[in-house]
Amino acid sequence: MIRYKTSEEIDLIKEGAQILGKAHGEVAKLIKPGVTTRTLDTLAEEFIRDHGGVPSFKNYNGFPASLCISLNENVVHGFPSDKELEEGDILSVDCGVFYKGYHSDSAYTYPVGKVSDEVMTLLRVTKESLYKGIEQAVAGRRIGDIGFAVQQHAEEFGYGVVRELVGHGLGRDLHEDPEVPNYGKRGKGSVIKEGLVIAIEPMINLGTRNVVQEADGWTIRTADRQPSAHFEHTVAVLKEGTEILTTHKYIEENFKF
Ligand code: MG
Ligand code: MG
Repeated sequence: MIRYKTSEEIDLIKEGAQILGKAHGEVAKLIKPGVTTRTLDTLAEEFIRDHGGVPSFKNYNGFPASLCISLNENVVHGFPSDKELEEGDILSVDCGVFYKGYHSDSAYTYPVGKVSDEVMTLLRVTKESLYKGIEQAVAGRRIGDIGFAVQQHAEEFGYGVVRELVGHGLGRDLHEDPEVPNYGKRGKGSVIKEGLVIAIEPMINLGTRNVVQEADGWTIRTADRQPSAHFEHTVAVLKEGTEILTTHKYIEENFKF
């Protein structure tokens, strides 16, 4: 069952999403070779708690950290460690904030130092596919229109679109209905209505779309071990159009590439 949000609820999600955006910005400042991913996680958790929020992912179904940290062939749900970032890595940072009773959720994938042109294109196209999906999140369209737009853009470049993990509604719970796949058919799926709040989150692989789960019980990686990128925003469907509630502004102010 989809829980549509009132404008008051959407305002609260947006307030929390500002904290989330700034936490991402603080993390962005530290990303360079030699930094451990645990350092990033500690910083994000402190920042969120210092601003009155709670990290949504920490202890969610037993998840051990505030950030999902997924390097290179890891698609999503990796977690921080004492491993240092290395020149040429790509690093996906996914984070959620719970604030005044509501969750927001966003992700960004960074190049660490100099990354190959091929992988830089993967990052650019994955981010573009997120915005192609967001353009379809309009009242009267259907959930399948979002996935269709994401899939079409990514597949134009020969990339694999992950099927097993999808975007989602969110609000009082981190994961609510509906599921928002990154693939689909135009005109299919449930009708998008005013008050819908969803996380749109393309997970796009340089190689095949197939993924496997690591023995740690969390990390999802590409089956062919080629790199994967992930970008995510939480968006609200309003009468006037679509509003992106989360922000990558603080990331892009602090991280130039
Ligand atoms: Mg996320
Ligand atoms: Mg999400």
